[in-house]
Amino acid sequence: MNLDIHPIITTTASSAPLLIAGPCSAESEEQMLATARGLCDAGIDIFRAGVWKPRTRPGGFEGHGRKALEWMAAVKRETGMTTATEIGCAAHAREALEAGIDILWIGARTTSSPFAMQEIADSLAGTDAAVLVKNPVCADLDLWIGAVERLYLAGIRRLGVIHRGFKVPGTTDYRNAPLWEIAEAFRREFPEIPMLCDPSHMGGMRERVAPLSAEAIARGYDGLIIESHLDPESALTDARQQVTPAMLSSILAESLPEMAAALR
Ligand code: PEP
Ligand code: MN
Repeated sequence: MNLDIHPIITTTASSAPLLIAGPCSAESEEQMLATARGLCDAGIDIFRAGVWKPRTRPGGFEGHGRKALEWMAAVKRETGMTTATEIGCAAHAREALEAGIDILWIGARTTSSPFAMQEIADSLAGTDAAVLVKNPVCADLDLWIGAVERLYLAGIRRLGVIHRGFKVPGTTDYRNAPLWEIAEAFRREFPEIPMLCDPSHMGGMRERVAPLSAEAIARGYDGLIIESHLDPESALTDARQQVTPAMLSSILAESLPEMAAALR
């Protein structure tokens, strides 16, 4: 099937790689604005932050929700950045669009549920939402494809996917094993859909962000989504894998010079 896919954003040249960065979680307005300014200095113009956090087990920080959507709006207003956040149900989709979020993404846990995906697709029908779909938690290519198809059948055309690696049994070097071949199979099925890599959730450690990013770009991926926090050690979620905006700037300069040049 040949899909009619439209660009996620139209402000940059369609051939330029998409680079999205920002904290795992929106923690405070000050954190958001200061991080966004740091990322702007690094040449990044798409800001990510989790407003609703899907925690595998209860008891952890689950995000500030609606209040944090206002902080996203402040980032957009004060820096001009494009904003992106995760949605996990129809109510999130509605609230995020009402708050002016530019790009929605579907987290790995949500992609894994056809019920949740259908509910989200139905709620987005008739909108021009831009949606990025992360691969499901387990290495099930059809679940990933099915999630994208549900959105496409609902009329969503500004679609992209994010390869964030897969949970595999036993111990591996990664938080989520890349299993690159599964992402390659997705690209063969839908070559028109842009594929981003999320080296942060794949590697689970900040030291792995540079090599995984370089590998994805060498494989012809269309962009990256990288977690960046002003003070990673004190992050409320995913502390071990976040990099400061300054570290991100060095990673780009040292490991991804062509991408760094395209940002300027
Ligand atoms: C995230 O992006 O912070 C996140 C929760 O990612 P994933 O859905 O890939 O686990
Ligand atoms: Mn995270």
